[in-house]
Amino acid sequence: MDPIIVNLEEKFGAHNYHPLPVMLVKAKGIYAWDEKGKQYIDMMSAYSAVSLGHAHPKIIAKATEQLHTLSLTSRAFYTNKLGPFLEYVCNLTKMDKALPMNTGAEAVETAIKAARKWGHKIKKIPDNSAEIIVCHGNFHGRTSTIIGFSSEQQYKDGFGPFSKGFVSIPYGDVEALKKAITKNTAAFLMEPIQGESGIHVPPDGYLKTCEKICKENNVLLFADEVQTGLGRTGTLLACDHENVKPDGLMLGKALGGGVMPVSLFLASEEVMSVYTPGDHGSTFGGNPLAATIGLEALKILMEENLIQNSHDRGEYFRKKLSQLKSDYIKDVRGKGLFIGVEIHPHKATAREVCLKLLEQGILSKETHETVVRFAPPLIITNEQIDEAMEKIGSVL
Ligand SMILES: *Cc1c(COP(=O)(O)O)cnc(C)c1O
Repeated sequence: MDPIIVNLEEKFGAHNYHPLPVMLVKAKGIYAWDEKGKQYIDMMSAYSAVSLGHAHPKIIAKATEQLHTLSLTSRAFYTNKLGPFLEYVCNLTKMDKALPMNTGAEAVETAIKAARKWGHKIKKIPDNSAEIIVCHGNFHGRTSTIIGFSSEQQYKDGFGPFSKGFVSIPYGDVEALKKAITKNTAAFLMEPIQGESGIHVPPDGYLKTCEKICKENNVLLFADEVQTGLGRTGTLLACDHENVKPDGLMLGKALGGGVMPVSLFLASEEVMSVYTPGDHGSTFGGNPLAATIGLEALKILMEENLIQNSHDRGEYFRKKLSQLKSDYIKDVRGKGLFIGVEIHPHKATAREVCLKLLEQGILSKETHETVVRFAPPLIITNEQIDEAMEKIGSVL
């Protein structure tokens, strides 16, 4: 690493991240390179935002063309790009309507506002008393409202006071959901697989039972698929594993084609009807560049059969990881190419493993103390997984 350039980041940047000691200067497909030309396999994919691989030629071509044509207008005007993007994503996800934002956290904020207003205006919950049920171990972003219902102490420490109206229950526990619902409950907000908490897959049938409980109680089921959506878990949405249709859906990360932030809150007609002009907005949300890239990202996902690839390569990769005879490995879990390897805490920390992987040319990042995440671009091949497994095997 060039110490002078890295020191600029350390000196002038806030220290809200603790990066691994590598300085990347270039990337293409599943590979990235540092300034000395050393090649790495990207098993992070920018927290799944680079699902199509780095610098996908079709994304770069469409983005470049659109940059030269029209990038930003604000929503004060119609553009010729937003409508087709929203139509495509609504048809694909079978949702009625979509509201474009930029980051995942903004999509979640949009969902929270929609749930509350739906609760007050349509379910007729007394004003200012709508409740939203969330899960322990959740990760929905970093805004002050969202961190207020995190169960992660560090995310909250010193950042209060927090927004009221959230009730937290254990993840994967349907009885807890039943008990937590009151006449003031507007929505249950959840991740179909918890990502940042360490790739936690809920028990089989959990999503389906949650859907049923929510329906019976006139509670909205909101699925945060910012990370699990768009093929990451081997189905278009992680909800598809159990044929669950949420009332609200958040997408982000991979929707930006690996080049810019694009997020959506999608919902039923009834839920989205609570938004009227002036209620909500975003200067950059739904801009023609983002809409162009978002539409192209979805088309690539479908045309290149990346959902099936995620499923098949995921099975292959998890099998290989499970076959590793290593006393460092406590558990291998996940779906599709959304994989967590839990490290025995008395053997090493996940960060120590990530540092060793880095030396071997594998980019990964720990989530919490004990889990190493493997979430490569969905374009990866079996041969490339073999190439990575040689390195991962030697480290573990
Ligand atoms: C990453 C993530 C978010 C937040 O997305 P940002 O673009 O970082 O704001 C929200 N929900 C889930 C499940 C995520 O993984």
